[in-house]
Amino acid sequence: MKWVIIGGGFKGIITAVILLKYNQQVTIIESGAALGGHLKGIKWNGYNLDLGCQIFDNSNSDITRFLLDILGSNVKPVDVFYAGITNNYWSKNYTVPDLSHEESLKAQIRDEIKSLKSLPLQESETLEEYLHHRFGKTAGELLCKAADKKLGIAPNLLSSQARDVLFFDRVKVFDEDISINLKEDPFYDERLAVFDHSDPMKYYSEAAKDYKYRNFYPKAGGMSSFSEQAEVFLIKNGVEIIYSDEVDSVLDNSLVTKKGLTLSFERLVWSADVAALENKLLARDVIDDYVYSLPMVLIYFEVQVKNLGPYTYIHDHSTDTYIFRASTAGFYSGQIVSGKTYICCEIPTSLGSAIWDNPELYLESIWQEVCDLNVCSGELPETFKVLKAPKTFSLPLIGYSPVYEQLKIDLSNKMPNLFFIDPLKTSLTDISDTILKELKYDC
Ligand SMILES: Cc1cc2nc3c(=O)[nH]c(=O)nc-3n(C[C@H](O)[C@H](O)[C@H](O)COP(=O)(O)OP(=O)(O)OC[C@H]3O[C@@H](n4cnc5c(N)ncnc54)[C@H](O)[C@@H]3O)c2cc1C
Repeated sequence: MKWVIIGGGFKGIITAVILLKYNQQVTIIESGAALGGHLKGIKWNGYNLDLGCQIFDNSNSDITRFLLDILGSNVKPVDVFYAGITNNYWSKNYTVPDLSHEESLKAQIRDEIKSLKSLPLQESETLEEYLHHRFGKTAGELLCKAADKKLGIAPNLLSSQARDVLFFDRVKVFDEDISINLKEDPFYDERLAVFDHSDPMKYYSEAAKDYKYRNFYPKAGGMSSFSEQAEVFLIKNGVEIIYSDEVDSVLDNSLVTKKGLTLSFERLVWSADVAALENKLLARDVIDDYVYSLPMVLIYFEVQVKNLGPYTYIHDHSTDTYIFRASTAGFYSGQIVSGKTYICCEIPTSLGSAIWDNPELYLESIWQEVCDLNVCSGELPETFKVLKAPKTFSLPLIGYSPVYEQLKIDLSNKMPNLFFIDPLKTSLTDISDTILKELKYDC
């Protein structure tokens, strides 16, 4: 079958690789001059900077095989060492919020969660309601603060579907030994996080058969080298890539690009912005009113390798700090120049906030947080880079679900051979799993 994919970011790349495995004929139309989208990162001071902390995860053997096919020998395992901080309390090996240290609230949190067990599952409209219904009132309130910090917007403004972007469906509420026992019960199992000290691949035995490490990354060149290798791989395997062009108009089985090319297809994959697809095919702009794009300030410091702490990345859920995640991205990506490397601080914020308008004024505070997080130590580095990303993750606002469901129906009525990718899937793992699952039915 002949497929045309619109957009050559990670979604477009992974779709093309999967389609090749099904022996499909593939063309990608990419509006930029190269594949990769966000994964291309940026070049600065001799480094290939990643936009945030991006590491491949070996949880699905099919996906890992696709990624390893692209990377060939340019791959290395990453021994990930992480921690989380909740209200200035450290939890080694947990990145999710940890409420187990809230001594005065422990009994209340435990009783409230227990009481939910006997209740039927309650519908939730907002993320705030979802967290309350899932973890109880006291834990729910604390988790809403953590969600607000991570997502840069109050959970009562977000649809409950924002749980997909939150990355903490399970949290630490009890001490580890208690949690391990409670997890025998499915109710607790789906709510409680525990760290397995014995084997990071314990729950991924299928994936471990092919590749024994839990996480991996390009050996050289940062994530941008993945995009470059994907380009070479796809072309070598017969994928046609059209650069610096976009769709102008679409009919049932053909499209015309802005540069005047006409392409025929049996299936069209839209991996770019869904709002643009709605506009192009349905001549309306509804979904955009229900999506909030999280702005982030990214601050990179060039640091001495000898001053780095032990962590690959740390999540800070505390509400009195700016950084949500700090990572030693330059180090785990092997980018070391004369004993120096870079670290990356991800700061969710909102457009027009003080830190968004003048991030340079916050360098001292951010560096102090880096030191407090034990990501690095020493004096404020002289060499740094500040990047403002106005749109990172797409978050669903209240009312999103029915509008999105209607959009799916309208698009499929208009064009039954259209395949588009859920905009709420943002982690590389979620994106790959979703596309693989859906294409299995389509090929
Ligand atoms: C600061 C930041 C931090 C992040 N942190 C993480 C993280 O820690 N972990 C994680 O898993 N994910 C993270 N993400 C998200 C991750 O990078 C993205 O989810 C993923 O790379 C998105 O891939 P994509 O293909 O959807 O979009 P993009 O990377 O945006 O690619 C879209 C591509 O389509 C092209 N395009 C757009 N419109 C058109 C059009 N009309 N026609 C043709 N081409 C078009 C663009 O040029 C681009 O190449 C982060 C993102 C950012 C920005």
